[in-house]
Amino acid sequence: MKFNPRARLDRSQVRNRGGGGTTSRGMGFPMPTGRGGGMPGGMVGGGGVGGIILLIVVLVVAAKCGAGLPGTSSGVSADAEGDILSECSTGADAEKEQECAILATVNSVQAYWAEALPEQAGMEYENSQWQNFRGSTSSGCGQASSSTGPFYCPADKQVYIDLTFFDAMLEEQLGATGGDFAEAYVVAHEYGHHVQDLVGTLGRYQSRETGPTSPSVRIELQADCYAGMWANAATTTTDENGEPFILELTDEDIAEAIDAATAVGDDRIQERSQGRVNPEQWTHGSAQERVDWFMTGYESGDMDECDTFSTDDL
Ligand SMILES: [Zn+2]
Repeated sequence: MKFNPRARLDRSQVRNRGGGGTTSRGMGFPMPTGRGGGMPGGMVGGGGVGGIILLIVVLVVAAKCGAGLPGTSSGVSADAEGDILSECSTGADAEKEQECAILATVNSVQAYWAEALPEQAGMEYENSQWQNFRGSTSSGCGQASSSTGPFYCPADKQVYIDLTFFDAMLEEQLGATGGDFAEAYVVAHEYGHHVQDLVGTLGRYQSRETGPTSPSVRIELQADCYAGMWANAATTTTDENGEPFILELTDEDIAEAIDAATAVGDDRIQERSQGRVNPEQWTHGSAQERVDWFMTGYESGDMDECDTFSTDDL
């Protein structure tokens, strides 16, 4: 993947934040421990108090540093430990820094859906802010920690991730090769859940049921398909000046996404963690299914082709 040095990045779409606490329930990537296969249903509040505490922390940190807040219209950056994000301005920065690459990817994915959702579903897309945290943080879906992996929280419509997930979990624990397009796949998958939330799919199919044809698996495979749709349009999706965020996607990039989708397949994770496969516990689908649905989205670019709910041939 090659970012366009002329693309302008919109920093307001990503926020760095601190945190506290240990567990969460959201639309997570499954972790080998089994803790992260979160369900969308029954989100209990708790973000309210956490939000207030966080805001106070932000204000205290901002006052302490005596520094001007970063110059984004919406933006208060909560990052007190060397703010790389505030330096991310262009695609050239995305080529150099992981945080800027994530920001550029978030920008591209959301610019894509801002066009595709009205075209294909007849409804407006609303941006969802990407929340970078370190260690743990509060969310509208409860407390989040790095061990839960990235997740989408329907209660506050935001995506949460501890960026150490990519090295520590995706590569080391899940055995993926990694790479910037593997990370882009994860970003696009999480925004797939946001799209499902906007069109009502998440609300309709909320369930704690598991199994190879469970609603949870269908939701996850559809998010993979939506991630593929973005990949299909990644080099033609532009910033507000008409500059594409991404200039080039190679077969190797797609292979990175496929490798990551394989690594997070339920069967692979079960094999690694339990030494056997039990489809009745699946929440995200098998490695092959995840790859197949990503490729369906990638090859078609069509939401209708991503209907994982009207087939038993997943
Ligand atoms: Zn998911």
